[in-house]
Amino acid sequence: MNIHEYQAKTLLKSFGAPVADGGVAMTPAEAEAAAKNLPGPLWVVKAQIHAGGRGKGKFKESEAGEKGGVRLAKSAAEVREFAAQMLGNTLVTKQTGPAGKQVNRIYVEDGADIARELYLSILVDRATSRVAFVCSTEGGMDIEAVAEETPEKIHTVLVDPAAGYSPYVGRKIAAALELDGDLVKQCVKLMGQLYKAFVEKDMALLEINPLIVTEGGNLHVLDAKVGFDNNAMYRHPDIAELRDLTEEDEKEIEASKYDLAYIALEGDIGCMVNGAGLAMSTMDIIKLYGAEPANFLDVGGGASKEKVTAAFKIITADPNVKGILVNIFGGIMKCDVIAEGVIAAVREVGLKVPLVVRLEGTNVEKGKKIISESGLDVIPADDLDDAAQKIVKAVKG
Ligand code: ADP
Ligand code: MG
Repeated sequence: MNIHEYQAKTLLKSFGAPVADGGVAMTPAEAEAAAKNLPGPLWVVKAQIHAGGRGKGKFKESEAGEKGGVRLAKSAAEVREFAAQMLGNTLVTKQTGPAGKQVNRIYVEDGADIARELYLSILVDRATSRVAFVCSTEGGMDIEAVAEETPEKIHTVLVDPAAGYSPYVGRKIAAALELDGDLVKQCVKLMGQLYKAFVEKDMALLEINPLIVTEGGNLHVLDAKVGFDNNAMYRHPDIAELRDLTEEDEKEIEASKYDLAYIALEGDIGCMVNGAGLAMSTMDIIKLYGAEPANFLDVGGGASKEKVTAAFKIITADPNVKGILVNIFGGIMKCDVIAEGVIAAVREVGLKVPLVVRLEGTNVEKGKKIISESGLDVIPADDLDDAAQKIVKAVKG
């Protein structure tokens, strides 16, 4: 689960991190009021969407056009004007995809005097099973280019899980960020606060880009992107409350109700698979035969007929889906349960696209019989290769 920048900043502030003052607004009038609560003379109006790259983003309509989702304003009236241009408008950034995201909230905060823009993130490094700090002196809006062109400018500092965070880790980061004097002290303190927030709140990612050094010689969190481990949400009801459903894909919201692991993708072949590994290889083989998957969907090991029906409905409701591939290996999952779920869903919502079903494993004969006796127009397949070729052919002709 992801949260907005302003929510992340409030959270980090509660751990003591230096964050600028600001206020969230849903209307231009609220934005002006938020600006009047701040000292000025410089305000920043920031579009709140669950995607980065706002500064260099472009709005689809209106005068805001090329000016992006992060703008400096010199008066409260100007804050109101920028807010009016952003709210309700669609912002397209490198991270939103071409469809962009509608801006429903904006954040108005104090303008900062920036001397240096640094990059810092914390994540779980799966290769070493450790929490990793990733940092660079080259922070700001072009970090993707830095990672691609000058990867040596990006440093990783790992934290030993037995020892936890210690000032030594903070000093290593300070050295990588080329900080000296009092800034080293500030860095050691801030990294400790961020590490604590990361671990206590079960974050999956905490990214501060930029982390700035102000003209006055202070470290400041200027942007914050935070994502949480969904599997740990049950122990953070306060965080769960921050969820903004308008930022999420409707199909993914529906899938989460049934506890289905579903991720919407850009292709046109809908997939229903049991097991994450099999789902990944199903996506791979669809690509191998020249098409693109419309989704990742793992119905899980012991899915019920209701869960399978819900999954099938989510797939068929996607207008991008031009064909469906059901690929099930029955272990704990029984093939007849899958067959019944698919048929129940088709009876309810109809079937307008070709459907290839490949069943293998527990109760496979029973499953195949249920499908063949259903009278549905299903293309049966024997193995993964056969199934992928058949669905790609059915979709592409
Ligand atoms: P994004 O990463 O989505 O583009 P940021 O919050 O990082 O959004 O803002 C982009 C740039 O705007 C920053 O790199 C910084 O230069 C500038 N900026 C952001 N917030 C402020 C602020 N409060 N004061 C001054 N400049 C800011
Ligand atoms: Mg940023």
